[in-house]
Order: sequence, then C-alpha cells, then structure tokens
Amino acid sequence: MAGNRTFTMIKPGAVKKNHEGAILKMINDAGFKIRAMKLTRMSTTQAGAFYEVHKGKPFYNKLVEFMSSGPIVAAILEKENAIEDFRKLIGATNPENAAEGTVRKMFACSVTENAVHGADSDETATREADFFFSTFERFYDYE
Ligand code: ADP
Ligand code: MG
Repeated sequence: MAGNRTFTMIKPGAVKKNHEGAILKMINDAGFKIRAMKLTRMSTTQAGAFYEVHKGKPFYNKLVEFMSSGPIVAAILEKENAIEDFRKLIGATNPENAAEGTVRKMFACSVTENAVHGADSDETATREADFFFSTFERFYDYE
C-alpha cells in the first residue's frame, strides 16, 4: 500500500440506516480519493477470516455475526499518510471515547456496531484490500 493507501468498510449497521452517503462525503471532504469500492456482503466464514486476528477474544463471535448480517461498502482510499489520517477521521473504537466530529462519534451505535472499519497498518491494508478487490477493480493510476 506504499504508505498512502488504506482500506475501509462501512459496516452493516451504517449501511442499513442509509448513512453510507454521509460517511463517504466525510471521507472525500477529508481529502481521501476512492480507488476501489463495492457494496457486498460477507458470509460468516468470510467475516471470521477477515477478523482472524481477533479470534479467541470475547467479542469475536458477536463481531463476526454483526459483520455478516448485511451489506457493507468496502473501499480502498488514497491520501498522504492514509492509515493514520483515516483512523483520526473515524475516531476511537468505542464511540463513547471517540472525539467530536469523528465518523464513529456521529454514526456508531455501540463498540461492536461502530459504523466503520479502518486498517491499522500498511500490511493489514494490503491484506484487507486483497481480500475484497482484484487488480481490475482498482484505479490507482486514475486522476
Ligand atoms: P478497530 O476497528 O478500531 O481497529 P479493533 O481492531 O480492536 O478496533 O477491533 C475490531 C472491531 O471489533 C472493532 O471495530 C469493533 O467492531 C469490535 N470490537 C473491538 N473491541 C470490542 C469490544 N471490547 N467489545 C465489542 N466489540 C469490540
Ligand atoms: Mg483494527
């Protein structure tokens, strides 16, 4: 991901409430360019594999169930310092701790149903982008 790309999902709760447009506007307004995007739904097996790193944690089963409960918007975003800046834009994992004006503060319902995912490193962003997108679905050279 070369330091300037990140991977995000708008989670099922936020899509169900039709907040995807408002969240994508916040993402664009913060200077991120959308380089790949799709509306899709993960099976429980896929959600389990996506969140494999959390396997064994007390919230894992609930998370997998929630993340496969409906459609999500998956996207690859580009901006300088993308990983860090995107995590700043979305706010803390638990919306109760998220700063004013962040996506999670505005749109999350709970710590599990927290509106959006953001990759936490270049390595995870690459892994997560590869999970959803083929090379033909990415527009890295488009201006
Ligand atoms: P983040 O999404 O901010 O990187 P984590 O990687 O720690 O957070 O956790 C992945 C997802 O698991 C969170 O976005 C949230 O949906 C869920 N989660 C994390 N911690 C908890 C918790 N203590 N209780 C319930 N769900 C949680
Ligand atoms: Mg994480």
